[in-house]
Amino acid sequence: MAKYTGADCRICRREGCKLFLKGERCTSKKCAMERKPNVPGVHGATRKKATEYSLQLREKQKVKKAYGLLEKQFRTYYDMANSQRTGLVGENMLSLLERRLDNVVYRMGIGASRKESRQIVNHGHITVNGKTVDIPSYLVKVDDIIAIKENKKELPMFKDLKDVKVVMPKWLEFNTEKLTGKINAMPQRDDIDLNIREHLIVELYSK
Ligand code: SF4
Repeated sequence: MAKYTGADCRICRREGCKLFLKGERCTSKKCAMERKPNVPGVHGATRKKATEYSLQLREKQKVKKAYGLLEKQFRTYYDMANSQRTGLVGENMLSLLERRLDNVVYRMGIGASRKESRQIVNHGHITVNGKTVDIPSYLVKVDDIIAIKENKKELPMFKDLKDVKVVMPKWLEFNTEKLTGKINAMPQRDDIDLNIREHLIVELYSK
């Protein structure tokens, strides 16, 4: 499937919930979900009754879009979760998605959105255990040290991180003075604040 290049806010309106794709704007009054929360398009206001399949499909699309993934990439996480011997498939899948380096950079407040965080990683601004990692899909592990590269700490984009208000999930910590963070634990289902019914995705892929 081709990469979506349309307006991010349209995605939230389509999925009927805030996916926090645009950083600061998402928590301001400018958020499109505050102003016009209906489904985009001429028939948006007259949406048909949802079928079981459409509910499952929409839930999958919601998670896929929130993490900024294409179908094939998303399916890979499902397959990885499905092959794990312990835990529920849906929860394992969400845990894997949370452990992506671009998501961790976002959760730590270094990037305002996952998209921006992905760029930060792509541009080689982030180190894991002292080594530059420029792969957004890199999966972090417990005790990994995530930091902004020493020679990038003075970049304007990282200057005001002290003032950024972030609700840090308990599996992460980030020191805004040293610009260094740590993975304290594996992310659990309760740590994921998106309104997701992951069992619908498992049902969809199990068909
Ligand atoms: Fe747009 Fe963010 Fe609001 Fe979504 S949550 S509609 S991306 S401003």
